[in-house]
Amino acid sequence: MQKSKPTETGKCNCGRRLKDATVFIYRSHTDRYLFHRCECGTEWTEHQTDIDPMDPVSSDEVIEVHKRLAKFEGSIAELLERRPA
Ligand SMILES: [Zn+2]
Repeated sequence: MQKSKPTETGKCNCGRRLKDATVFIYRSHTDRYLFHRCECGTEWTEHQTDIDPMDPVSSDEVIEVHKRLAKFEGSIAELLERRPA
């Protein structure tokens, strides 16, 4: 059985749901990167382009990211350094 990307199957290869993975969002004007980290240690990045620049980030989404950041124990510093100034 061929392994599929979590973004295609909705589940990590370990079986955990995609929505349970820790997610960090990096946005620029035209691109959006979603960094995912599953509890099993699997990490993957989703790159989205052609997003609507007028599409706002929902406050719920921001809150969720901060909640997950608060309990994240990985190398978050490296990710944070890649945020736009
Ligand atoms: Zn996993």
